[in-house]
Order: sequence, then C-alpha cells, then structure tokens
Amino acid sequence: YEIGSGLVGSEMCIRDRSLLYYIFLLKSNIVITSKNTKRKGKKDMILDLFRLNGKVAVVTGANTGLGQGFCVAFAEAGATVIGVARRSCAETAAKVEAVGGTFFEVLTDLSAPDASKTVANACKKLTGRVDILVNNAGIIHREDAVNVTEANWDLVTNLNEKLVFFLSQAMTNEFFIPQGGGKIINIASMLSFQGGIRVPSYTASKSAVMGLTKALANEWASLNINVNAIAPGYMATNNTTALRQDSDRNDAILCRIPAGRWGTSDDLMGAAVFLASDASSYVNGFTLAVDGGWLAR
Ligand code: NAD
Repeated sequence: YEIGSGLVGSEMCIRDRSLLYYIFLLKSNIVITSKNTKRKGKKDMILDLFRLNGKVAVVTGANTGLGQGFCVAFAEAGATVIGVARRSCAETAAKVEAVGGTFFEVLTDLSAPDASKTVANACKKLTGRVDILVNNAGIIHREDAVNVTEANWDLVTNLNEKLVFFLSQAMTNEFFIPQGGGKIINIASMLSFQGGIRVPSYTASKSAVMGLTKALANEWASLNINVNAIAPGYMATNNTTALRQDSDRNDAILCRIPAGRWGTSDDLMGAAVFLASDASSYVNGFTLAVDGGWLAR
C-alpha cells in the first residue's frame, strides 16, 4: 500500500495512520474484527446496546466513593468487575454481589512504580480479558499556591495524570488491541474546565485528563477503542468532606448549583454505563459533565 497523502508522523491523515497500524497488526498476526454497530432486529433494540453482559470492567479506586458506584453500575448492567484499590474493597464486593454481579479485587498502591503493569498482569490472571477501564482513582491536595511543595505536586499529578496515561496504555496493549476494541472512561472534574481555589496541582492534573482523553481518542478511535471522560460536578464523597464541613464554602457551592444539591455516585451511573457500552460507539474524545448544571452558570 502506498500512503496516499505522502505525509509522515503526526501530519499523516488518520486514515493513513490507521492503515499503517492495521498492516502492523496483520504482520503481527493480531486479528481486529471491525465492530458492526448497525441495529438488527430485536436482538439490538436500543436498551440492549447498553447491556454489558460478558464484559469485564476494571475500576480504579473501587473501595469507596464514585469508584464504588461505577462498580455497582457495571455489575447491574451485566459486567464482571475488577476493582483496584489500596484498601479492602469488601464493601464494594458486597454491593456488587447484592445485585447478582461478580467482583474481583486487586489490592495495590497505584502510586507505586510499574503500578500499571501490576494491574494489567493481575487482570490477565483473574479474567484473561478486559473490555472497560475506568481511571477513577484520584487525590486532591488543598493548599495556597505559595505553599505547595514539589512532593505534594508529584503525589497528585503522578496518580491523577501520569497513571491515567500509563494504565490506559497498558490495557490497550495488553487487552484492547488484541481483543479488537475497548472502552476507556477517565474521571475528569469541573477543574478540567475551571481554575478552582487552592488546588493548583489538582486543577493541572484534571485539565490534563481532559486533554489526554482527546489525544488518546484521536489515536485509538480507529481501533474500536472509545476514550471519553466524565466530569463530575460537586459530589458528596470523601474527596469533598472538607468542603462540605466548611459551612461558608458549602453554602456558596450549593447556591451555585442549579440542581440545588450535591451529586451522589448514583447520579453518574447512567453516564458511566452509556460510555462503557455499545450505545456510545461513535462517541470519541468527549468529556461529559454530570454536574447538576454547574457549568451552565
Ligand atoms: P474518594 O476520595 O472517595 O475516592 C478516591 C479513590 O481513589 C479511593 O478509592 C482511594 O482509595 C483511591 N486512591 C487514592 N490514592 C490511591 C492510590 N495511591 N492507589 C490506589 N488507590 C488510590 O474520592 P471520589 O470523590 O470518589 O473521587 C473519585 C474520582 O472522582 C477522583 O479522580 C476525583 O478526583 C474525581 N472527582 C470527584 C469529585 C467529587 O466531588 N467527589 C468531583 C470531580 C471529580
């Protein structure tokens, strides 16, 4: 095949880059079956496109908060769930099993070097496949910008930003390319769009998550890999305990949310299942705000 445009590297058109990649896969004996998203008869009625039966979903930060909610949502939709966390996911396992799902736990510190390889290897042993990755684990450090240390900065950006890239890369190489597709959902934030107050490392990392979502979508969309993000608004979890306990900040935030309440992990379930399912096959590189209208103000 002679590349039509004659351009190289990032200047090549996506069709040419994809074709080169397919040639590489062909030479490596890796089979990609193109997904037919056309709806055919009863089997593909619209609600069926949202089902995750037979899929394996990996959720980081699965022991609590939003991550726990994603695990339950995927289990309700039919997926087997692998939860990755530093601390025991017993509570999440019980919630997944209560809705008839199957849950596996991978206990590891995602800030450790080679964490992405550790997770990919564990998944290989547990289920042998992964269809959905949710990059949810994240931390926030509240500090006046003049006092932020390099160590604080690295702690936040290593987990919230660097790991998102390397875990996505590990899952794509290990599972999504050989299996012919996959879904990546990154958890962004209102601070992917806005500056925030006293959280510069968090804002930097969550802005990077939105950029990375677009960058990876551009490279991987043609491989049946959908990379998208959810930007939760202000949600009642451990991450926001300090804010909710500060009555001035709590009132100011509530006043600004058109829906007039903090969100919960239940509010994110629909968006997560949509982005994890065949219903979103033509959605690429998008960050979906689920924020009670916060960004509309
Ligand atoms: P949370 O503090 O309740 O949960 C964070 C999760 O990340 C926990 O499971 C924790 O164990 C895990 N984690 C942290 N460091 C880890 C490490 N080194 N190794 C392994 N796991 C680690 O917070 P949450 O609100 O559920 O946050 C989940 C995601 O949603 C985060 O990325 C957060 O930035 C994002 N987010 C939260 C809100 C909100 O209002 N709560 C808003 C926007 C975005």
